[in-house]
Amino acid sequence: MSRVIAIDGPSGAGKSSVSRAVGDHLGFLHVDSGALYRIVTWQCLINNIDTANPNQVAEFAQSVEVEFLPDQFSIIYRVNGEEPGNRIRTPAINANASPVATVKQVRDRVTGWLRSLTKFGDIIVEGRDITTAVFPDTPARFYLDASAETRAERRRNEEIAKGIAEQSLDAVRQSLLARDQIDSTRQHAPLRKADGVLIIDSTFMSIEDVIHTIITSLPGKWHKEQRT
Ligand code: C5P
Repeated sequence: MSRVIAIDGPSGAGKSSVSRAVGDHLGFLHVDSGALYRIVTWQCLINNIDTANPNQVAEFAQSVEVEFLPDQFSIIYRVNGEEPGNRIRTPAINANASPVATVKQVRDRVTGWLRSLTKFGDIIVEGRDITTAVFPDTPARFYLDASAETRAERRRNEEIAKGIAEQSLDAVRQSLLARDQIDSTRQHAPLRKADGVLIIDSTFMSIEDVIHTIITSLPGKWHKEQRT
């Protein structure tokens, strides 16, 4: 049976870099669940679906098809034969993804996709409801947090590094806080710290320390069976 490492936390907490590094170290494929909500949002926007209308979004979401392909380190996504790339990282998608992710039918569809990915082997999945709703029974569950200021700085530095920075630091911070608010107060699978998860506040930690904390907190021999 495939093993699953689940990592939740708010936007910009460092989930992506940390889970990629832990996955590479252990040989677990990295899965970015937020990208799937972004893909549904992107498809809504290019098909002129009103993202403020949950009924329209719910119906349209059933028609979105994603192809999943494992590469060496992660599971990559294709829509109509193409990888979405930075088309799902725009300010418009940032602003619309959280409202789209409140719709139950969207969550059910993405949850079904995520659960099917264990067929590719051991996976490390990052998101907002992975420890609480998608894989609540896995013994490796983490909640990664950091202060809003630190998260905004990290997110903006990532955008600068990718050459897609379109907003000031303050605008990035406001956008993160707006998404956190929607994500943690929505009715279906809100972002929360589940009982039994290991909470890691990375505000004053280096990425290496966070990676080390996760790897050494894994059950049994998981951290000893690393990629050769
Ligand atoms: O992680 P990322 O910022 O790319 O996620 C985009 C949005 O997708 C989040 O703001 C959140 O609304 C939604 N999301 C979610 N559940 C997940 C992952 C992401 O609701 N497991």
